[in-house]
Amino acid sequence: MQDCLFCKIIAGDIPSKKVYEDENTYAFHDIAPQAPVHVLVVSKKHTPDVAHAAQDLTDAELAACLRTCAKVAADLGLTEGGYRIVNNCGENACQTVKHIHFHVLGGEKLSERMA
Ligand code: 5GP
Ligand code: ZN
Repeated sequence: MQDCLFCKIIAGDIPSKKVYEDENTYAFHDIAPQAPVHVLVVSKKHTPDVAHAAQDLTDAELAACLRTCAKVAADLGLTEGGYRIVNNCGENACQTVKHIHFHVLGGEKLSERMA
């Protein structure tokens, strides 16, 4: 996926502020944070979004994304206060980067709206 921004970040071709990395996932700070803590968790294997994940990822690879969200939240001290995990899928959700990713947002009381 030579033309994918997040594939380039995972490969280290574009710099990022890495938070965590394992076999299946990569986590880094969002470049335009919407909360005091705003981390993106991405699957190392490229798939455009959750709608394509069933065909492109194993269940373990998909589950690994949520496990990493929870680990990153814990490592950054968000567990006690709580946090939000957001996934945008497709045009109506205003997904801008077509590589599956989960936003981990916290560090303050978030809006009651979902996004
Ligand atoms: P989406 O709107 O697709 O759900 O989220 C894409 C996210 O990627 C946005 O929150 C945006 O700020 C973030 N983003 C876009 N380009 C870069 C980049 O080059 N580096 C980092 N760290 N985040 C980026
Ligand atoms: Zn990609």
